[in-house]
Amino acid sequence: MDCIFCKIAAGEIPSKKAYEDEQVLAFYDIDPQAPVHILIIPKRHIASASEITSENSGIVAHIYEVVAKLAKDLKLEKGYRVVTNTGEDGGQTVGHMHFHLLAGRSLAWPPG
Ligand code: 5GP
Ligand code: ZN
Repeated sequence: MDCIFCKIAAGEIPSKKAYEDEQVLAFYDIDPQAPVHILIIPKRHIASASEITSENSGIVAHIYEVVAKLAKDLKLEKGYRVVTNTGEDGGQTVGHMHFHLLAGRSLAWPPG
């Protein structure tokens, strides 16, 4: 499958890793939108959040455990935002589900 994030998960495309285990990889976004901008992905391909079912939803819980660990390790005491852009109107540009962890500045709400 021609998926850029599958290639990053497999180590075929290099990335700056923030966390890794058997199920997930967290790596720094190539085009950061905040002082801290990390992407957390399942290593197994899931196209988008719309593909989450009772069969695979455990990975979402695990990703949020990784978010909490990263927030602690990176000392994000002032807060952070987790975003999963989904589909065209959601602004998803890579078809492998990912969670943006954004921090290090005050983030506007609502998003544009
Ligand atoms: P989306 O727009 O789908 O929510 O987010 C995709 C994100 O992936 C973007 O923030 C983009 O900068 C990032 N990205 C795309 N290609 C690469 C890459 O090859 N390496 C890294 N580290 N990030 C990437
Ligand atoms: Zn993929």
